[in-house]
Amino acid sequence: MKLYDCAIIGGGPAGLNAALVLGRARRSVVLFDDNKARNAVTLESHGFITRDGIKPEEFRRLAHTDMSKYPSVQLVRTKVVDMVKRGHSLFLIQTSAGDIFQARTIILAIGLKEKLPSITGITDYYGTSLFSCPYCDGWELRDKALAVISENESHRYSMVSTVYNWSKDLIVCTNGVGTFDGQQRAKLLSRGVRIFEQPIAALKGKNNRLQKIVFADGTEVARIGGFVTSNWYLPIRFAEKLGCQLNASGGLAIDDYGKTTVDHVYSAGDAATISPAQLIVAAAGGSKAAMSVNAALNHMDF
Ligand SMILES: Cc1cc2nc3c(=O)[nH]c(=O)nc-3n(C[C@H](O)[C@H](O)[C@H](O)COP(=O)(O)OP(=O)(O)OC[C@H]3O[C@@H](n4cnc5c(N)ncnc54)[C@H](O)[C@@H]3O)c2cc1C
Repeated sequence: MKLYDCAIIGGGPAGLNAALVLGRARRSVVLFDDNKARNAVTLESHGFITRDGIKPEEFRRLAHTDMSKYPSVQLVRTKVVDMVKRGHSLFLIQTSAGDIFQARTIILAIGLKEKLPSITGITDYYGTSLFSCPYCDGWELRDKALAVISENESHRYSMVSTVYNWSKDLIVCTNGVGTFDGQQRAKLLSRGVRIFEQPIAALKGKNNRLQKIVFADGTEVARIGGFVTSNWYLPIRFAEKLGCQLNASGGLAIDDYGKTTVDHVYSAGDAATISPAQLIVAAAGGSKAAMSVNAALNHMDF
């Protein structure tokens, strides 16, 4: 069975950039991806210099074209379901198809998954009218009638104050979960931000474009978009099974060069960083992790 220098799990910007750097370093790489990117719901991605406004699938197509110049990089479009470490630096990786691959090092670039506020139909608008990152999508929503929808008491006030930078026509909806303290409430009202603490019954719109929020008490407020705060989780558990520790935000703990707490296991992108979650940050993390992997392999082999 072939022994790869590195197996990268996840083909988003983090994993793709790691594969590019390792391919250019003449390393044999297998990149696994089951194509369930976090931003697949969006029409355009913003804030990546030279790629501002690019469609997520076009970003990946261009990345695959770049990678294809390096014959030692192999893309396997399938899900990794398990992984075990044998000895000092041998990993056995199992795919959902039942195939086993071997690698000397691992980069976990698996991204993260989100749990949106519990409102029926919210996914119809997530990525088209509702977003999670004002730096990614605030510009397109500037000066529009917006809502912050957040069931998260510790994050929603800061989300409101951030979104206020892009639009002053702002309401905040708790969907019936938690409240604001007196100081926050006074500040929000002084800024003209209306507070809706009753549950949301429905989001209404056309063609995935939000038009209004309907509350359980019958109140209706016209809104064309906004931002949500989500809960999130790592999509796989095998990182923890390998013994990788988590950081304070619940992502994989890494050092400045992408190394996890387990020898020869690295991580990059949203899975480790959690926030800020951006394509360019993920890609930079992938690049750093790849250089660390190459340095470790050089150290073992030289
Ligand atoms: C609605 C929305 C809009 C956004 N807009 C922007 C924007 O405009 N600009 C911006 O910079 N950022 C934006 N982001 C954030 C951006 O999408 C993420 O920061 C970025 O995708 C993280 O890259 P990543 O490589 O870490 O993870 P991902 O892009 O999520 O890629 C992870 C990949 O790993 C694969 N994977 C996971 N587990 C396995 C496994 N077990 N086996 C095989 N494959 C696996 C997944 O299928 C996926 O393809 C947005 C996010 C959302 C949710």
